[in-house]
Amino acid sequence: MATTSPIKIGLVGLGKIAVDQHIPAIRANPGFELVAGCSPHARPDGITAYNDMAGMLAAHPEIEALAICTPPQVRHRIAKEALASGRHVFLEKPPGATLGEAEALRDFAAQQGKTLLASWHSRFAPAVGATRDWIAQHPLKSVQIVWKENVRQWHPGQAWIFAPGGMGVFDPGINALSILTAVVGDLVVVKKADLHIPVNCDAPIEVQLDMATEGGVPVSAAFDFLQENLQTWSIYAEAQDGGKLALHMGGTTLEIDGKAVMKEAEREYPGLYAHFHALVSAGQSDADFAPLRIVADAFMLGKRIAAPAYVE
Ligand code: NAP
Repeated sequence: MATTSPIKIGLVGLGKIAVDQHIPAIRANPGFELVAGCSPHARPDGITAYNDMAGMLAAHPEIEALAICTPPQVRHRIAKEALASGRHVFLEKPPGATLGEAEALRDFAAQQGKTLLASWHSRFAPAVGATRDWIAQHPLKSVQIVWKENVRQWHPGQAWIFAPGGMGVFDPGINALSILTAVVGDLVVVKKADLHIPVNCDAPIEVQLDMATEGGVPVSAAFDFLQENLQTWSIYAEAQDGGKLALHMGGTTLEIDGKAVMKEAEREYPGLYAHFHALVSAGQSDADFAPLRIVADAFMLGKRIAAPAYVE
């Protein structure tokens, strides 16, 4: 059924990503009206905020959709309550702390007849579509991912990231995997994983992955959370015909055969909210868990290697 008036939306979790991306993207989209938010402590300027989702929904029963921007460990419980209360749900990535949680939400959303968007913001980076098109025309020989950032710079105070279910360096690494699984056009399977876990943490700070597509194309990934100075979010693809593609800066910059062919500003969240609006309007869901499955398989297959204690 077509939706004509703006979709009234509430935010659950008012931390870094809600403030940096969700609030401005919702406000810039006339298809949404940001009604309120909730978070145990955070109180961003200009947002009517409540301590928890129940309080927010009691005060604003008109809310039709909820964006869940909490750490992953509490996402399933909150999203399930949101769907049970009859709201559409936009899930920040990752869609759950486990694959089971994510699949249960997908089934529950279908039962409830509500939209579920398991968002992968990096898939909305400007050069991802062109990368997919190039790969479709140039059968692959190999793919190499290098995703290295400084956790102290990008995730200050986020203790949840090294707690069980926080995924450690897979938190940014899953963004690369979300691009990979959107562009290769084949199933990607983990063959070997080295998980470097600080002795005082429960999730890796550095990971090396050997993967392969079912068609036999080798794919490697190096994730590092201790990268200082130059930050690297790059994917390199080599084609069987010798062609070379490099996607840099998380998908905003594209080089083909050494020549820059695209360099655009980042606009992931405006694209995500346009997608969410289209899904709600069409009564559909988008819940692809391929990136989360790779992370789950890496945890299942991975060799644990003790790394020095991490102190923020
Ligand atoms: P964050 O800064 O730690 O914010 C998370 C917020 O969730 C905090 O404000 C916290 O509350 C709130 N919260 C925790 N438990 C809650 C609950 N039960 N109900 C309501 N709110 C709750 O983390 P973040 O960086 O925004 O990341 C959140 C999610 O977004 C993660 O899954 C991450 O992977 C994803 N993400 C992050 C980025 C990024 O660049 N940071 C980019 C894309 C996606 P209080 O502060 O009020 O205690």
